[in-house]
Amino acid sequence: MKEADRPTGAATDGFHLVIEALKANGIDTLYGVAGIPITDLTRLAQAAGMRYIGFRHEQSAGYAAGISGYLTRRPGVCLTVSAPGFLNGMVALANATVNAFPMIQISGSSDRAIVDLQQGDYEELDQLNAARPYAKAAFRVNRAADIGVGVARAIRAALSGRPGGVYLDLPAATLSASVDAQTAAQSLVRVIDPASPQRPSAEALRRAASLLATAARPLIILGKGAAYAQADAQLRALIEATGIPYLPMSMAKGLLPDNHPLSAAAARSFALSQADVVMLVGARLNWLLGHGQAPQWSPTAKFIQLDIEPVEMDSNRPIAAPIVGDIAAAVPALLEELKSAGVTPASTWLAAIAERKRTNLDRMQARLAANPSPMDFHSALRVFRDVLAERPDIYLVNEGANTLDIARNVIDMYAPRHRLDSGTWGVMGIGMGYAIGAAVTSGQPVIAIEGDSAFGFSGMEIETVCRYRLPVVVAVFNNGGIYRGDELNRGGGPDPAPTALTSDARYDKLIEAFGGTGYHATDPGSLKSALDEALASRRPALINCVIDPTAGTESGHIQNLNPKSSLSRA
Ligand code: ADP
Ligand code: MG
Repeated sequence: MKEADRPTGAATDGFHLVIEALKANGIDTLYGVAGIPITDLTRLAQAAGMRYIGFRHEQSAGYAAGISGYLTRRPGVCLTVSAPGFLNGMVALANATVNAFPMIQISGSSDRAIVDLQQGDYEELDQLNAARPYAKAAFRVNRAADIGVGVARAIRAALSGRPGGVYLDLPAATLSASVDAQTAAQSLVRVIDPASPQRPSAEALRRAASLLATAARPLIILGKGAAYAQADAQLRALIEATGIPYLPMSMAKGLLPDNHPLSAAAARSFALSQADVVMLVGARLNWLLGHGQAPQWSPTAKFIQLDIEPVEMDSNRPIAAPIVGDIAAAVPALLEELKSAGVTPASTWLAAIAERKRTNLDRMQARLAANPSPMDFHSALRVFRDVLAERPDIYLVNEGANTLDIARNVIDMYAPRHRLDSGTWGVMGIGMGYAIGAAVTSGQPVIAIEGDSAFGFSGMEIETVCRYRLPVVVAVFNNGGIYRGDELNRGGGPDPAPTALTSDARYDKLIEAFGGTGYHATDPGSLKSALDEALASRRPALINCVIDPTAGTESGHIQNLNPKSSLSRA
């Protein structure tokens, strides 16, 4: 043993080392649910000046961590207890991986010797192996002296390349093990430059530029990878300098303001079907883009794809000009290249898009202006649309079926990374976790527009919102059911229909139990005053928005994905 390695006598332990390792890497917030074996970790983190946000269910804690990773480009960290708590968090970790959000789930785990022999430990589960399929990477730290390396590897894996969810397993014995203080201090690793902006090759840029130069009807698709890249000014420069119309995917809304003249969002289907050269920027050709296939897309369209992940190329359609690299580095380089190659969208193309936009926006205006009683989705959403147009600082969380699909079209965003929604999985239950994560991370107000069904998945977290006094306004779009609220039991029995929820439920009363303010809104006027008052107070509030139970269509805009029996009687 070298002199420097000799124990000095002073000792620390695994708990403290985890906190030191996280702090050394700039992680200042933990989301989780306390319990065996991590309770002391949560306490000690708070004592060490970290923020700990305690949830009612690990899934919401994980969603909060994931979205904070997306917003900050630092991995959001979620702490879970062993076995069931671990599994509850795993849904959120998988969601982070699928959405390319940097997140780390740190879970305590039971005695490995007992787990591996399946002798029936308290909360026994082989967590490391259970986590692997859902995580970008998974590690276990068996020796307290390796905690620094374990945390560093988790951070680097979460942030580098395509970001994702990383699992870090900490057995109870590792947490409680004592470590010589000097060894501990020397074991910490500060992760340097984990997401270095990689430049694409000059050849890839030239290939893409010459393809764009041939385009008459070019189109740029901005995805949430473009939002994550935080290259807002560069992207705007590319679009404005080239005059290429663009379509934002839902979480890329606001990257350029939605009322930008080059936005083709209100002419989406037309633009997709007619474009001859399409450039995907941080967006995947998955189900959300009809896999790039006809009839949504022209079968002869050629594709450029800019993505940090090389194996994404050709996943659904051949990519004529792949650009592998970081958006922040690639976009200015491509713009430079285009100065010599040139790109000129045909004036007929721009005019045709403008014409479609006008027609569709007029139709939307008419729907928004109608004032049915009870409210439908449009008349209620109009209130939010108007308020958010004046308050671009407010974060919008959105989930549900019709509530998601219609809000995405109705509500314009004016600031980048302010719309947070069901994302790549189209998952329900992200609402409160994302709202809490966004409020904690940004300190800004959040409005969560939730279908009544979607809200149910994480509704108990309104207690968390109230306990931490977060400026979150939850709007429950209450039509009394999944999709709609007027379905009957087809067998004629006394049970409600599978898609039914309690009709006339008073979700506003729930939040009052925890000291928040509840509002019951039955028309746009009462909704507007509730929303104004709630936002002005900057205190937790829930608005029960009463929506016509017959408003809403099954599966919203994705009816094509909803298999139905051809033998159905009704
Ligand atoms: P959307 O759902 O909005 O279409 P996706 O989640 O499908 O977006 O796609 C995001 C893509 O962005 C992913 O393929 C991811 O690899 C990529 N990406 C994330 N960060 C960067 C970055 N900094 N540079 C380039 N590509 C990125
Ligand atoms: Mg509903």
